[in-house]
Order: sequence, then structure tokens, then C-alpha cells
Amino acid sequence: MTSTLISNIGELVTNSDKKLGLINNAALVIENGKVVWIGPTSKAPGADSRIDAEGGCVTPGFVDSHTHLVFSGDRSKDYEARMSGASYATGGINTTVAATRAASDDELRSNLKQRLNLMRESGITTVEIKSGYGLDIETEARILKIAREFTTETTFLGAHVVPKEFAERRGEYIDLVKGKMLDACAPNSKWIDVFCDQGAFTVDEAREIINAGIAKGLKGRIHGNQLGDTGGAELAAELGLASVDHCTHISDSTIERLAAQKVVATLLPGAEFFTRSPYPNARRFLDAGVEIALATDCNPGSSYLTSMPIAISIAIREMNLNPMEALYAATRGGATALQREDLGHLSIGATANLVIWDAPSYLHIPYRMGVISNRVITN
Ligand SMILES: [Zn+2]
Repeated sequence: MTSTLISNIGELVTNSDKKLGLINNAALVIENGKVVWIGPTSKAPGADSRIDAEGGCVTPGFVDSHTHLVFSGDRSKDYEARMSGASYATGGINTTVAATRAASDDELRSNLKQRLNLMRESGITTVEIKSGYGLDIETEARILKIAREFTTETTFLGAHVVPKEFAERRGEYIDLVKGKMLDACAPNSKWIDVFCDQGAFTVDEAREIINAGIAKGLKGRIHGNQLGDTGGAELAAELGLASVDHCTHISDSTIERLAAQKVVATLLPGAEFFTRSPYPNARRFLDAGVEIALATDCNPGSSYLTSMPIAISIAIREMNLNPMEALYAATRGGATALQREDLGHLSIGATANLVIWDAPSYLHIPYRMGVISNRVITN
């Protein structure tokens, strides 16, 4: 049993409540990977080793509950086209699918590692990773096997779009996703997800696919209401899913249903930023009592973002969150979206994933857009 004391914490964000549970001049003890003591530095107990936070702020590590990190190739030309006036559509996914199918396991693994390193440097200590760039049995299963090497929060997204070769055989593809593809992917998946939106899957198709996953022991989440109010969020409420992600186009009555069913609304500011689209107003969700999460949506097409502080800064500027709400959403909100009680806070018993920032207050994270040196500790 080894213990570590972190002392001289200028401002400790515990997230014990929605006002961040702030403690000044704090110390914290980690034992066996868990937080076992919190209090003033002056009363800190002894420990096997000691880290001096030098007056810096300590926050829980960011919990990124929505990424598509396993892919090959890049879509910088799509970005150029959009920034030159083209609008975002779902078709570009097929470009990434072709590159990902052609990539070896080693190539996919080394790309993934590079992205995960960048994310960790930004303070992200937990990532959810979706499949969805294979869209055939072999590649979807390969993606999830590789993702599982790095996180337990893996998500089967065979229903990302209908791949080109099934364009005229949509029903057959849905049967494949619900059948043999799900069978091959379920062993390395915790979650099942569907892109339920214009140009992707309908509500009825999404319901069938998610229910098939639930019958296999997976838990459901959904991409909904990004491109239009097409019913994904309503379905999330109907099925009591953990989270509906995007929520850009959504009615007040649907927001009320999310609150009643305790479905987390995961907002992805990178997606609006990189597609030059209107942002959802986070106030509508908070005022209705919906828990929100902020995530990077890191993917090659619509949000190649590996920094949570940048997501937080954009969300504050464009989604009407204040810094306190945004930090909470990027830590404990993400953990709630993944149904992880042990993450996203630094109360007694929590997993000791944390960031020591070379700055006196959490406010510096958005204020300086995350360009702050830090030390990341994971357990
Ligand atoms: Zn996504």
C-alpha cells in the first residue's frame, strides 16, 4: 500500500457540488489509486511520497465522453471546403472508412496513441472511444479491440452511416449491424450508439439497433439532433439512454423529457466550431434541470479537437455557460454521461485522476484557453 500526498494546492476543485466544491490552501492524499484524505495543507498527514503543487490549482482530470479516435487518413480538404463556403453533410465519413479499412492494426494503434497523448497533455484522463469507421464486421471488430486496449469506455457505432456498398440495400445493412456485426463487436464494447439524424439513420432504425445492443448486454447512447430535430433526443428519453449527444436542434418539450428521464445532454462545441454551424444554447438545458456534459467529439471530419480546455473555452463563449458550469460539465458531467460515479470528482473514494495546473485558479483554464503547463496524474 503506497500513499502520495499532494500539498500546497492553491485551489482544489473537488466537484463535491455543482459549484465545484472549492477548497483553498488544500492538500490531498492518494492511496491505492483513490482519494483517501482532503483538508488544509497545515493538517496534512504524512505519506510515502509527496508532490508540491506550488500553489497551483488542482482539478479532476477531464472525462471526454464522446470521441471517434480510431481512424486513418485525414479530411483537411473537407475542412478547407467548408471554410470556403460548403455546408457540412454526412457523406465524408465514407472517405475515412476507406482509409481505416486499408490501415493495419499497428497503424491504427499508433495513430490512436498519438491522439491519446495529446489529449492527456490537455488534462483528459478518461476517454470514451467509438467505432464507426469500419462499417464491416472485420474492421469494426478490429477498431473496438484496439480501443479496448486503452479504455473500458468503448462504443459500437456500426450505425454511423450506411456504407456505400449497401446504398441500395439499406435494410440488409441494418440487419448486419444488429446481427453478425454486433456479435463480433459486443465482447469489446460497453456501449452501443447510433447516428440518428438527416443522412444517417431514422428513429425507427435507431430504436431497433439500440434495442438489439441492449439485448446483448450493452448500454445505449445516441447521436441526435445535430443536423435537424429528427427525433434522436426523443428516442433517448423514450429508451432512458445514458446520453444524447449534439442536441443542436431541439424543442423545449424534448428538453423537458430529457430532464424527466435523467438523460445527459452531451454538447460538442468542436462540431459547431469546425463546421461553422449555430451552437446550442446550454442555458436551455440547465434551466430545465438537464445534466450536461462537454466532450471533444474528436474525429477527422467535423471536429479534429484533442483539447478539452479549448472545448470549454468555446462552450463558454458560444453556448452561454459560465466557467464554473463548463468545468463541471467537462469533468463530472462527462462521468455522469458514462455512468461512472468514481470519476470526474475528487471526493473521498474517487479515482485519483487529476491535473495540477501551473495557475492559481481553474478560471485560468478557459481564460488562457488551456495553454498552461500542467502535471497529469492518473490511477
Ligand atoms: Zn460523434
